[in-house]
Amino acid sequence: MLTLGRFLSHLLLFMLAVATSLAQQPAPENTDSLELARRYLAQDKAEAALEITDRLLARPGLSSAQKAAVMESYLKAMKELGRKDLPPARKALAKVLADAATDTRRRMNIWWHLGVLTHNQGELAEAQHYFEKALENLPPGDTESHYWLLMSIGVAQVQLGNFAEATQSLLEAERIHDRAGMPPNYALYQNLSGLFYYLKDWDKSLEYVKKALAIANEDSHEYTWALFNLGDIYYHKKDYKNAYRYLKATLDRTPEDPDAWLVLGGVLLELGQHRDALDALNKALKLYQDHGTLRDLGLTHRHLGRTWSSLGNHEKAIEHFRQALSLFDRQDSPPERMQLYKELADELEQAGRYAEALAALKKHEALHDKLLNVEIKARIAKLKSLAELEKKKRTLAELEKKRVLDRQTITRLELQAAHERTLRWFLLAGLVFAGLLMLLLMGVARLRKRLHQELRSQHRDIEALNQKLQETSVRDPLTGLYNRRYLTQEVDALIAEREGSADDERQGPVLVILADLDRFKQINDTWGHSIGDQVLKAFAETFSHCARRSDIPVRWGGEEFLLLCQDMDIHQGAKLCTRIRRQLSELEIDADGHPLHVTCSFGIAPLPVHPDLPPHWSWTIKLADAALYAAKSAGRDRCVGYALRNLPPWLDDDNLDVPRLLSEDALWVIEAEAGEHT
Ligand code: GH3
Ligand code: MG
Ligand code: MG
Repeated sequence: MLTLGRFLSHLLLFMLAVATSLAQQPAPENTDSLELARRYLAQDKAEAALEITDRLLARPGLSSAQKAAVMESYLKAMKELGRKDLPPARKALAKVLADAATDTRRRMNIWWHLGVLTHNQGELAEAQHYFEKALENLPPGDTESHYWLLMSIGVAQVQLGNFAEATQSLLEAERIHDRAGMPPNYALYQNLSGLFYYLKDWDKSLEYVKKALAIANEDSHEYTWALFNLGDIYYHKKDYKNAYRYLKATLDRTPEDPDAWLVLGGVLLELGQHRDALDALNKALKLYQDHGTLRDLGLTHRHLGRTWSSLGNHEKAIEHFRQALSLFDRQDSPPERMQLYKELADELEQAGRYAEALAALKKHEALHDKLLNVEIKARIAKLKSLAELEKKKRTLAELEKKRVLDRQTITRLELQAAHERTLRWFLLAGLVFAGLLMLLLMGVARLRKRLHQELRSQHRDIEALNQKLQETSVRDPLTGLYNRRYLTQEVDALIAEREGSADDERQGPVLVILADLDRFKQINDTWGHSIGDQVLKAFAETFSHCARRSDIPVRWGGEEFLLLCQDMDIHQGAKLCTRIRRQLSELEIDADGHPLHVTCSFGIAPLPVHPDLPPHWSWTIKLADAALYAAKSAGRDRCVGYALRNLPPWLDDDNLDVPRLLSEDALWVIEAEAGEHT
């Protein structure tokens, strides 16, 4: 409580540290003098730098960018020299240039230097404003400048008594400091300790001063400062033993420190060591008399008064209290005066000086009434600022909570998006797979259809082939007429049918016509075998053409043919042969340019050879052969038909003797000769 001035002087210590920390400089400007000034600044020759920049600023013809660069160095030089006399015109120009500078860092530096210089002039609010302007122009990512600017703002706020705001600024500075992992910083702990000292939060103040002590160099002035503050804070905490320890340690290092003697006096008084207290306080008084403030002196006299009072020496106490009062009067500090008037009244009363005691007490009462009012107002103001701080802290906490929630929401949404992306890929892959599968199935279906079609066409081909095979197996390849095998099948079926049927449903007669080309050997011999083949084909055509649809034309062998006719008697057969012969007579075959004509002889016989006989194929053939032989013998190109007229008794299965039958006149003989075409 004694050391406001002392504390403020320490608060400002860091300003110098800031001044040297601002080492980053913008790119070289075109002016050589400016370069020189900067070199001087780097070499701690601020005087020389100031001289050059001052001259440069007065010179006409500089662009505003050049002026801004010069102004930056000028202010820096002023600051490093701790000057308090920045001319108002320069300040006004600096503000204009700060706003106009294109380089962010230069803008920040000009505002910052202005802030320090204005602070030096004691214009705290204005200084705070400039620090805030500097903060607005903070280059991105420059954590160190951010930290130092918040410290500057915090200090100005402490000094302006805006403790709530100061707390915010300095704690924020501490957060930035810790987050950036910056090395432990003495100024930070010193400032925070000072702040909590003002707020009478002794525990916090103690905490930070201990941190400051821990990092201070033991030989340094800062170390002593921290020792003293520990003693002072312990005194306020009423921990007099610790207070004594640290104040003694302070005095061991700086025996001529009046502050330490004063607080030590207070401690000794509380410990009841009155004589030692008097010694310490007198020592303080002696030191303060040379260069102490009125307040320091007032406080010392008050402590002396209290000590003498404790020793029962009222006159001495009264004397010191009056001294203290006169000092406080000159200093206008009503609380101390009010307290002192009461203590003075007590002493006067005890000394039996009642009128003076009454006057003193009345003074006390008047001040009390006045101060109470002030105090309440001050308390209200303090509570207001504390409430405001509380509110700000709450808002900060809420914002932090919201930030955390937002982060969680973002994380959740990101996860969801990733999930959806995966799902989409799977869907896409599924679709592609389904598409491929469909194509595959379509391909398979098409293949199956084609195979099916191929199979069907192959089947048809096979059927056709089969048919053809069947056809060729029953047909004669040269003439296309049925072959002997087919005839045998047909005849067998026919005979089986006739034998199986009842008598009353007897079918019509079946006739066999045998045909043999006349003198065919000659044709072969004369025109060749191939012409012979042509003749055979032409005959077969005529032969089957003349036959009915139900008749079966067969190549019987070589140049012999057979026609199997159902429902045809021997007479009808003879007529058919005549028709064939007639057609044949009209047939002209081209043999190498020569017209060729053929004739044919026919032999006819029924099946069975007699209606009362069973249908024996060999008998019919034998009879037809005999008839054909007769036709040949009779001169060819004619038809002879034989049928049994009656059934001679000698006739049996193995004995169909045609010459005997002819001789016994047991045969019907039908003849149709050449030229007889009816
Ligand atoms: P005929 O009037 O007495 O029946 O006298 P022909 O010459 O017709 O009788 P022959 O039995 O002496 O001769 C039949 C000839 O028919 C003998 C053979 O070379 C010929 N021949 C048999 N089959 C074929 C054939 O498929 N093609 C040809 N070009 N000639 C055949
Ligand atoms: Mg023959
Ligand atoms: Mg012949």
